Amino acid sequence: MIPKKIQEMNADLWVFDNDGTLYDNPMELEIVVGKRMNEYIASHYCISKEDAKEKRRELFKKHNTKYTLIALRQEGISEDDFIKKTYLSINPIDFNIRPSMELKELIGSLAGEKIVLTNNPSEFAGLILEALGIKHLFSQIIGMRERNYVQKPEIDAFKFLNHWLKNDKIVVVIDDCLDNIKIAESLGCITLCAKVDT
Ligand SMILES: [Mg+2]
Repeated sequence: MIPKKIQEMNADLWVFDNDGTLYDNPMELEIVVGKRMNEYIASHYCISKEDAKEKRRELFKKHNTKYTLIALRQEGISEDDFIKKTYLSINPIDFNIRPSMELKELIGSLAGEKIVLTNNPSEFAGLILEALGIKHLFSQIIGMRERNYVQKPEIDAFKFLNHWLKNDKIVVVIDDCLDNIKIAESLGCITLCAKVDT
């Protein structure tokens, strides 16, 4: 979660990761979404759910990615349909993701623009932020599609920050993944590592 010391910091732009940063993404949620992805693959290729697991692994290899949506779009599926039937098929409350007054106050207290930068589809982050009661605090959610599938920690996933940095704006990046933190730091951002229970 977000370290409290964020309140003592100043920034023109705050860049928040979603999963593991704004909420503690539960493993059960990942398992359910993964299951729905296997079901989608089973239905698309007319194979069993068991064979779908292997097919998914094959697709990762074939398209050199660990993201199912990135692999499947190369196979010509409808991205919107996939996102709807997998990421957006879950109900956050089933995973105890509910409005947090503490988080709302903490993020709401920060001056400057606030955005979310996530490796998942922005629609999924939107669903989670809505459930947390904080979606309205962010001016933008930049997900995998908005970056044309360039994923963190690739440096190009952060290139939109150059415009801010070269104009001497203070950019703070908050992420629970150290590789992402390192890249953001190398670009000149101030970084904060989000960890559970800090
Ligand atoms: Mg994360």
